[in-house]
Amino acid sequence: MHVASLPISVADATAIARDGYVFGYPLVLMDRRRRGAPVNRFTHAHELPGAGGAATSPDTGLLRSAAWLDLGPQPVVPTVPDTYGRCFALALVDGWGDVFASVGSRTTGSRGGAYAICGPAWRGELPDALTVILDSNGFGDLLERAEFLKRISDQDREITDRVRGLRDKAKDQAVQLADLEEQEQLTAERILYQRDQIAAVENKLVGSRDQLASARADKRGALAQVRESRVALEGDLAALEKEQARVQAALQGAGQTFDGPIRHGSGALIWPVNGPVVSPFGMRWGRLHAGIDIAVPSGTAIHAADSGRVVLMGWVGGYGNYTCIQHTASMSTCYAHQSSFATSNGASVSQGQVIGYSDCTGHCFGPHLHFEVRINGSPVDPMGYL
Ligand SMILES: [Zn+2]
Repeated sequence: MHVASLPISVADATAIARDGYVFGYPLVLMDRRRRGAPVNRFTHAHELPGAGGAATSPDTGLLRSAAWLDLGPQPVVPTVPDTYGRCFALALVDGWGDVFASVGSRTTGSRGGAYAICGPAWRGELPDALTVILDSNGFGDLLERAEFLKRISDQDREITDRVRGLRDKAKDQAVQLADLEEQEQLTAERILYQRDQIAAVENKLVGSRDQLASARADKRGALAQVRESRVALEGDLAALEKEQARVQAALQGAGQTFDGPIRHGSGALIWPVNGPVVSPFGMRWGRLHAGIDIAVPSGTAIHAADSGRVVLMGWVGGYGNYTCIQHTASMSTCYAHQSSFATSNGASVSQGQVIGYSDCTGHCFGPHLHFEVRINGSPVDPMGYL
């Protein structure tokens, strides 16, 4: 562009030149001062700047740290620590030496923070936590900066509200979560407790089942034994009962013709054999067990329970080999299931004399002596006489 072609007066040109000097010279001075200093890094002064320096200084009476910031490519974000109430100032000075913003205990507070210092041309998003400080570059920028800061302030309020809302919501949710966690804990404990109880009941049931099974097996065995015994005993009793009338008649007859010595001996009978009574005298399954069964091995000597005369000796059906001894006119004793006899019909025997040997002849389910006491031929409980 050719200067001569500009429609400009001398006065205007003079004014422009003056403005050029006034607004341009500080930049020249600043540039001279900056020369050789590192960019975007703090340098720390070890001497007071003193009066009459080439450029303005925030405070000539303080040692300070300074950094030249290049905001061309992107914002610079210095972080100020919390000074816990102590006074500090981070003055932001533009190319003309004007303090366009100040971070410090009197302006932003002493709690510190990160501050984004943005160049005039920079456009972009900043994290919410950053305070934005715009470097103004003339009046237009100033307006824009004011508008931008207002927008940021509105946004801040919005963000603050949103954060507050979110914080309240988070608090509610934390409370809810704590409730849920507590419930979960309770439920877990309840489940554990129930599991333990179920396990205990299960153990008990298994124990009971085993006991029941073993008891059932025992009972089954016992029942089988009882059935077997009962069959045998019923058979035994039936067989013996069949002979009752015959034995009774024989003994009654013997009593009437009793001609032996009428005496009682000791007055009590002796045991014909030594052994446990495995079946007592009395009614069983509707039948009379006419004597007592004394368990003894086969071949055991049988002794006369008292002195007397042998009135019956021989095979008597279910009784097998059977001997009866008349002791008095009314009383007699009988011995059944013998293997062999050791006396003879009509013989006199003394108390304790061996009259035969035990076995299981006739209707019998195991070696024993079936021993009877009869009064006038009718069986009575031998236990009353032994
Ligand atoms: Zn018997």
